[in-house]
Amino acid sequence: MDCIFCKLVNGDIPATLLYEDDDVIAFEDIMPAAPSHFLVIPKRHISTLNDLTDEDAPVVGKLQIIAAKVAKQKGISEAGYRVVMNCNEMGGQTVYHIHMHVLGGRSMTWPPG
Ligand code: 5GP
Repeated sequence: MDCIFCKLVNGDIPATLLYEDDDVIAFEDIMPAAPSHFLVIPKRHISTLNDLTDEDAPVVGKLQIIAAKVAKQKGISEAGYRVVMNCNEMGGQTVYHIHMHVLGGRSMTWPPG
């Protein structure tokens, strides 16, 4: 499967890793949209949020837990940060392997563009 995030999970392309366990990794976004911008992804390929099943609940929950832990490590917890998951074209998804964006280090605006 030609998935850039699967290649990243397998170590075929480099990334600045922030966290890894058996199920998920967190790494710096290559084109940061905020002073702090990292991604948390499941190691297992899931294309979009629409493809989730009940069995995925533990790993999806873990994405959020790890997002909060890494945000704390990076020192953005207290000031605050934003978590975003984009789904399909109109949601702004460009990489079809689900991922949680964590953005911090600046004030966010609402509504998002
Ligand atoms: P999406 O638009 O799908 O919600 O977000 C994809 C994110 O992946 C973007 O923020 C983009 O900068 C990031 N990205 C795409 N390719 C790579 C890559 O090869 N390495 C890293 N670290 N981030 C990537």
